[in-house]
Amino acid sequence: MENKAPKYIFVTGGVTSSLGKGIVASSLGMLLQARGYRVTIQKLDPYINIDPGTLNPYEHGECYVTEDGAETDLDLGHYERYLNRPTSRANSVTTGRIYQSVIEKERRGDYLGKTVQVIPHITNEIKRRIKLIGNTGDYDIVITEIGGTVGDIESLPYIETVRQLTWELGEKNTMVIHLTLVPYLAASGELKTKPTQHSVRTLMESGIQANVLVARTEHNLPKDVKAKLAQFCNVKKENVIQSIDASSIYEVPFLLHAQNFDGVVLDGLDLPTNQEPNFDTWKKFLERHQNPKQTIEIALVGKYVSLQDSYKSITEAFTHAAATCETAVKIRWVYSGDLTEDNVAENLKGVSGVLIAPGFGDRGINGKIIAANYARRNNIPTLGICLGMQIMAIEFARNVLGYEKADSAEMDSQTPYPVISLMEGQKDVSEKGGTMRLGNWACDLKADSKIANIYQSTSILERHRHRYEFNNEYYDEFVNKGFIPVGFNPETELVEILEYKEHPFYIGVQFHPEYKSTVASPHPLFISFIEAALSNKQIDNIHATGEKI
Ligand code: GLN
Repeated sequence: MENKAPKYIFVTGGVTSSLGKGIVASSLGMLLQARGYRVTIQKLDPYINIDPGTLNPYEHGECYVTEDGAETDLDLGHYERYLNRPTSRANSVTTGRIYQSVIEKERRGDYLGKTVQVIPHITNEIKRRIKLIGNTGDYDIVITEIGGTVGDIESLPYIETVRQLTWELGEKNTMVIHLTLVPYLAASGELKTKPTQHSVRTLMESGIQANVLVARTEHNLPKDVKAKLAQFCNVKKENVIQSIDASSIYEVPFLLHAQNFDGVVLDGLDLPTNQEPNFDTWKKFLERHQNPKQTIEIALVGKYVSLQDSYKSITEAFTHAAATCETAVKIRWVYSGDLTEDNVAENLKGVSGVLIAPGFGDRGINGKIIAANYARRNNIPTLGICLGMQIMAIEFARNVLGYEKADSAEMDSQTPYPVISLMEGQKDVSEKGGTMRLGNWACDLKADSKIANIYQSTSILERHRHRYEFNNEYYDEFVNKGFIPVGFNPETELVEILEYKEHPFYIGVQFHPEYKSTVASPHPLFISFIEAALSNKQIDNIHATGEKI
């Protein structure tokens, strides 16, 4: 259906937040893609921040970065991981961004003296951004996930836009999927449909009839409960789909497919269902993911560990790569703020690898340096990502080059040894939002390096999100002592990768490989990190009673 107008699916949520709309939208996208459709997923977020780039990860989880350098909600990461297709700036919209565009137009005089209002000006801008993706001609189906919960004041303009679009484009070209919760009352042993009924009614008050209900539940919904939901919410019986708690988010597409979710959606959109879905890659992944032959523990040393969503793409990248290695990777969350010289051995005892996490600001930095030092000296495979690479460089400068006060200019602007310094292009930047070095940047790899062998290439593209860089004034000293810069930006010669020669696996990367990892395409760097950790585990076993080598 190359040249036909795309179909639009809207995913709304009711009853409570955090029901996993992103996973349901991603699962649907994956199922439709497996049937041969070209699909993309967009997120509309109701908050007024222009993007989540300035949000504390504690507040909102990880900030995901697209190839074209947009700082986005972490759901975009799920979309890419499930669809194995990059998203872009256009896939991520916030109320702040919508208002910004409308206000800019108003200042330019584009509205020709009219009063600028939520309807039609804000809703038209939302509509424009939804259609922008559809009009590229690249997709048969655009899934738009509306952040928040129906009934929220702040999502009203989005809901009104959905109403207008379903009316404009017609029922065979649009579909509303409403995700709700069917709670289980243990005391009476009952599954309750009332919250869903109310939520669907709230949607109807805004003029929208849900076409498909997806009910999150801890228990299987019996037939009569599904029938009740259908009757009271005005949807066909077969359009009530349960989304039961799953042991892995990657099982969800199959649980939904077993109830013909994708068939129901395609029927509703008048699209053929004749092509049987191809699940080969996913089935193979899931088989390995659920039946690992061994387990290893990897320490993730960071300062946001109390909210694990802050490192979502990293943990998912481990999951993808671990399946390739037929291994279960258990993450040991290590809060860097608590690490000291005295307790580091205890905290890292038994782990087969250490990941030094990305981050900002000076809290927990010393703990990260201590962890890097311990892992370097004890030959524990270590991957440093972004700030993690910078930490490795600081640790090396302090303990091997002998610059006790070496630091990053981010933590100590007065340090006499700024091994990590502010990038030239960042020196005059005063605004915080969207001004880092962001998105895809090319990197050339030294042909004889470990990393070139890992990537099986000497030229790569990876995504970035940082202001500081390795200071090339220390280049020769690092090389002389064996911590070798092996990846460079081809134009600016910024160092993007450091690799320690004397170590089985001690690699720091200035970019974020985790953003690129998907189910269908696990990241080679995570795979080889796990492989190194597995060999480390074997060494550990051999020397189980002796001193660690
Ligand atoms: N704070 C560091 C910088 O801005 C690292 C950023 C990160 O880890 N994403 O350079």
